[in-house]
Amino acid sequence: MQVLVVGAGVIGLAIARTAALAGHDVTVAEMTGGIANGVSSRNSEVVHGGLYYPTNSLRAYHCVRGRRMLYEFCAAHGVGFRKCGKLIVATNENELAKVETIQKQGEINGVEGMDMLGGNAARALEGELSCIGALLSAETGIVDSHGYMTALWGELEDHGGMIAFETPVERISYRAPHWRVQFGGNEPGTIEFDAVVNAAGLGAQALARRVEGYPADKVPRLVLAKGNYFSFAGRPVFSRLVYPTPVDGGLGVHVTLDLAGRMRFGPDVEWITQETYTVDPRRADSFYARIRTYWPSLPDHSLVPDYCGIRPKLTGPGEPAADFLIAGPAAHGMPRLVNLFGIESPGLTSSLSIADDVTKLLN
Ligand SMILES: Cc1cc2nc3c(=O)[nH]c(=O)nc-3n(C[C@H](O)[C@H](O)[C@H](O)COP(=O)(O)OP(=O)(O)OC[C@H]3O[C@@H](n4cnc5c(N)ncnc54)[C@H](O)[C@@H]3O)c2cc1C
Repeated sequence: MQVLVVGAGVIGLAIARTAALAGHDVTVAEMTGGIANGVSSRNSEVVHGGLYYPTNSLRAYHCVRGRRMLYEFCAAHGVGFRKCGKLIVATNENELAKVETIQKQGEINGVEGMDMLGGNAARALEGELSCIGALLSAETGIVDSHGYMTALWGELEDHGGMIAFETPVERISYRAPHWRVQFGGNEPGTIEFDAVVNAAGLGAQALARRVEGYPADKVPRLVLAKGNYFSFAGRPVFSRLVYPTPVDGGLGVHVTLDLAGRMRFGPDVEWITQETYTVDPRRADSFYARIRTYWPSLPDHSLVPDYCGIRPKLTGPGEPAADFLIAGPAAHGMPRLVNLFGIESPGLTSSLSIADDVTKLLN
């Protein structure tokens, strides 16, 4: 089939590569001038274990399966990653109960490599930590996400696919048996495809509304939850990822590491109504307070505003977190069209698993 994938973020690239490997003739349309210019370049680069997500949710399924596929892919393609492990720390009895619940959920989700540690055992691993207990997730790690996306792009091209940059998709209509797609940009025009995948991230809802005849009640609302990061201006003190217990809308301000061992903190949760990418330095106050609950010796003036990313959520503050929404023909009644909504964390980890299922939906 001639397949169009809209969006060259990690989800679109993974789908395009998997569809090309399955023998389809794949084109990716990306409105910016390069790959990974959206949500995919603004995250923690963590390969999540899959502990938190509700039983039988798509997030649980794709995270656990996608993690295994991602490590395998990285090992086979020379993409940098490190299974550094992660500690979810409890600093009081209330948090300890929460961490135990996370462990139980992890067991239900089939997550391997978990170990509940007492405070002393956790401090034996990370000497600067202050906690009364911690859940160790040995399978959690970090990945060079740009190296990963570049490798996906390479495999796509090796299998005959291509990416058209600066090519926004403006309208889509079904004229049996084809999808007619109208492009803007420098070389506007209309091309027919057999199948279309909408992996437009923050633009997925806007694009679905431009699919002629797509049921309006099947386009979920888009809620923007910005996550701000602060880098640490000093020598890193942790060698594992350190997470507090989750908060409404996110996993809590945690210690993230990159492959060079640099340490930063974030993301927090800032509910916004318009896309904006500035980090307000005043948010540092809440970071110091939160981080010091598990790392009391965080020095004053050591946090420097860094980057931020925006989670494309389907639910707002105080509401139960929505699952990924992968809407294929069975969900909306239109042939060979898949819309992906709400692909927030753990989308990076889940990407290869999502790609596998979406490619099957096209048939
Ligand atoms: C703060 C934060 C931290 C995160 N941390 C992690 C983590 O540690 N681990 C993890 O697994 N996941 C994490 N995630 C989630 C992960 O980053 C996302 O799930 C993933 O990057 C989503 O990729 P995407 O391809 O759907 O979107 P994007 O990367 O945004 O790609 C969509 C692309 O579509 C293009 N586009 C939009 N509209 C059109 C159009 N009409 N025509 C053509 N092109 C269009 C955009 O330009 C963009 O390039 C995090 C997310 C955030 C925000």
